[in-house]
Amino acid sequence: MSEVRTIGILGGGQLGRMLSVAASRLGLRCHIYEPGAAPAGDVAWRVTTAPYEDANALRAFAESVDVITYEFENVPTSALDLLESIRPIRPNRRALAVSQDRLTEKTFLNGIGLATAPFADVLTEADLDTAIAAIGRPSILKTRRMGYDGKGQVRIGAGPAEWTGAPSVLEGFVDFSAEISVIIARGADGQVAAFDPGLNVHEGGILRTTTVPCGLPGSVTTDAVLIAARIANGLDYIGVMGVELFVTPQGLIVNEIAPRVHNSGHWTQAGCAVDQFEQHIRAVAGLPLGDGKRYADVVMENLIGDDLDRVPDLLQTPNTQVHLYGKGAPRPGRKMGHVNRITG
Ligand code: AMP
Repeated sequence: MSEVRTIGILGGGQLGRMLSVAASRLGLRCHIYEPGAAPAGDVAWRVTTAPYEDANALRAFAESVDVITYEFENVPTSALDLLESIRPIRPNRRALAVSQDRLTEKTFLNGIGLATAPFADVLTEADLDTAIAAIGRPSILKTRRMGYDGKGQVRIGAGPAEWTGAPSVLEGFVDFSAEISVIIARGADGQVAAFDPGLNVHEGGILRTTTVPCGLPGSVTTDAVLIAARIANGLDYIGVMGVELFVTPQGLIVNEIAPRVHNSGHWTQAGCAVDQFEQHIRAVAGLPLGDGKRYADVVMENLIGDDLDRVPDLLQTPNTQVHLYGKGAPRPGRKMGHVNRITG
């Protein structure tokens, strides 16, 4: 058995909350570090509420745990340096560095032979004109760092392009037929287990639904899993990772990677004996990976903002698992929970 008893989690949102629940089922406990409100704190052994600049709080947190993981990839480097001097961080720093910056990420992916949208580095307004000349229109200007749920993105159409002021990449527009994702786990011994690829539908840049099976041919889903495994091996990864892909007539294109459990993997709670949260806990705790085989067809739908009003009905719907995150008041665009509908 692993010697890990306590897992430190950076970030106290819904992902940290579901990781804590999964850890508790394996007899492990979690310590959450979160500067703001922490829905994960309700179900964790301990919570530290302190900024990422508080060296004393970071040190005490690290010393109270056996291994550190994260549910959110934009943890400041200085905090990670201090934490890593005390306890191991899994997934490793390279996985974080690669996924924190869209330029580094695309360069890494191309470097291991995987296709991405064509891209150009944009540091200044002058670079933007050069980049548009090289990449063409339509294209999408994305900030290199801190973008999520479509934030920090500007679509460049026929009109004048507006400079956002932040270091960015300009991405060529990919004419995809579908968006899929692979949730893959890699253990400390290099063992890999992938969940079935899910079909993702976004609305306003936010994930709306994930459907499994995704309905694409086996040649495409196999390719998707092989791509995810190549990324996990290339990063010497330990933990669960989400890989978002565009399906195009020319093959799969990697959109982005998330070095953590991923919203598009929530269906695994209803579709697999071991879900993505438990798989991540097993990996970072040095336990064997579990059986991620899918035994049901599932549609996961996010409950965003006022969707919360549907909960009384959803609670009475057959074959439906309701997950609520225990957050405060709903706001437009805020993820309040999700439902997993077992469809077959
Ligand atoms: P991202 O934050 O990079 O995952 O982008 C959010 C969403 O914008 C994606 O899920 C796609 O629907 C869309 N998108 C992002 N990049 C591109 C691209 N290069 N071409 C077409 N659509 C894109």
